[in-house]
This record gives sequence, C-alpha cells and structure tokens, in this order.
Amino acid sequence: METDAIRFGTVGSPQTTRESGTIAAIHHIRELGLQHLEIAWVQSVRVSDEMCAQIKAAGEKAGITLSIHAPYFINLNSQTAELMEKSDARLLAAARKGYLAGARDIVFHPGSYHSQPPEQVYERAKQKMIEITGILREEGVQVNLRPETMGKGAMFGNLDEVVQLSKEVPGVLPCIDWAHLHARAGDGSFNSYAEFADALGRVRDTLGEEGMKRLHFHISGIAYTAKGEKEHLPLNEADLRYRELLQAFIDYGVAGTAAIEAPEPFHTADALTFQATYRRLLGAGEDSKDEEG
Ligand SMILES: [Zn+2]
Repeated sequence: METDAIRFGTVGSPQTTRESGTIAAIHHIRELGLQHLEIAWVQSVRVSDEMCAQIKAAGEKAGITLSIHAPYFINLNSQTAELMEKSDARLLAAARKGYLAGARDIVFHPGSYHSQPPEQVYERAKQKMIEITGILREEGVQVNLRPETMGKGAMFGNLDEVVQLSKEVPGVLPCIDWAHLHARAGDGSFNSYAEFADALGRVRDTLGEEGMKRLHFHISGIAYTAKGEKEHLPLNEADLRYRELLQAFIDYGVAGTAAIEAPEPFHTADALTFQATYRRLLGAGEDSKDEEG
C-alpha cells in the first residue's frame, strides 16, 4: 500500500464502519485506503489490557497507525486538588492503555485559563507536563503527549503555547487542530496560505526540521462566532480553505498524521477528500518539477 508523508484518517470510527468496535474500524480504515485511526476514548478509558493487545495486533497487521484522543475532562489547570488528581488519572490511563494498544500519540485538551494570566497558566501546565511525562518514562510507557490547539480564546492552548510546551518538555509534541485555530481567531482570519505558512514557519523555528516530520493534526470544517468554536461542519458547508492548507503542508515538508473530524454522514467522505486532495497537490508539484527539469 502507498504510504504518504502525511497519513490521513479519522477521529473515531468512520461512519461507514459496519460493526462497532475499534478493530472493525481499523479494518475499515484499511479498506477505505486511509492510513490512520485516532481512537476516541473521549468519555472515559475503559478497555481491558487484553483488548488493547488485540487492537495493537490489528493495527500492526493492517499497517494502520493509531493515536488516542484522551477524555475531554482533562484540565492541566484544574482548580482543586481533587479535580487535578482526577484529571491526571485520566491522562495517565489514556497514555498507559494507549501504549498497550500500539498508539504512540496521546491527544488531549489541555484545559482552561480560568481567567488567570496566560503566562501563569502556561507555567503550571509545563510543570504538570514535566510531572506526567516523568511518571510515564519511569514506567516505560513510550508515548508522546499531544496537547491540542483549542478553538476558544478562553481555553489554554493557542499555537505558540502548545508548540512552546513541546519544545520545553521532552515527551510532549503538538496536536495542531487547524479548524480550532481558524475558529479561535473569531474573525474569519487564520484561513489563507500566507497564514498557514506563517504558522508552519513558527513551528519550524521552534521545533526544527525534525519537529516538522513528527506533526499530528486535526482538520475539519468549523462554524464559529467572535468567541470561537461553535461546532464542526462538513467541508462543503465550511469556509476552511483546505487546499491552501494542504499546499502549505507540502511546501513546508510536513510529515506525520492527520485525523479528520466531520459530522455524519460526511466523516468518511471528508477524510477521503483531504487525502485525495493532498495526493493531487503532491502530484501537481511533481509534474511541474518534471517540466522544469
Ligand atoms: Zn480534540
């Protein structure tokens, strides 16, 4: 099977999967010609070690890479000791079980500012990341924790925060959700080749060429207000200039994985559209090189 520099897939099972469960989703991802699945453990992590082993084997056999979307209820800036403990437990569980299931990337929503100064929240999040990656390293759980860029200005996790955390804490890498960045801007900006290229340039300046080869993305159409994200949209109802985004990935030599989120019944179709468009743009680049050469 052809392997692309960016491996496309879905967050959660593509809606055309005939049976329930992660293993059926892995098989269907392969059947569709996609290359990645992000397993959505977004409510809680309730999976046996035995099931994890089966997921890992299925992924390896099918040649499908896996990431985990950890539970939504994680907040690196939790406001009580009890809530912080629960948040830590959820992130650790997603990492430990995800690792057993063969995933190397654990995506999570990093939390809220709770109206506190962003620098103060960043410092707290950084200390928490140092603590959690330390625990995982000691246990031999070899995963990347990937805080996601968030779609609302009230949430901790703009591009610079997420990328800076990735630079400062070993074991942390970004999950760049492009729809969230567009929605977070709130005014329709962050939606052009120039803005996508500028963002990728900042990522390269901070994480280096090596970092550009280990990126993980979420992409989708999105509805938003001045305050940010409202809901995910199918591509054909959204304003996201995704061809320009994909062209920027190609021009900046990005490699990694991209997980598509789209409401049913467009989930499968949008993932395939992103992959097919990426391949056509790659092909167009190769053709023009031939003509020049
Ligand atoms: Zn998410």
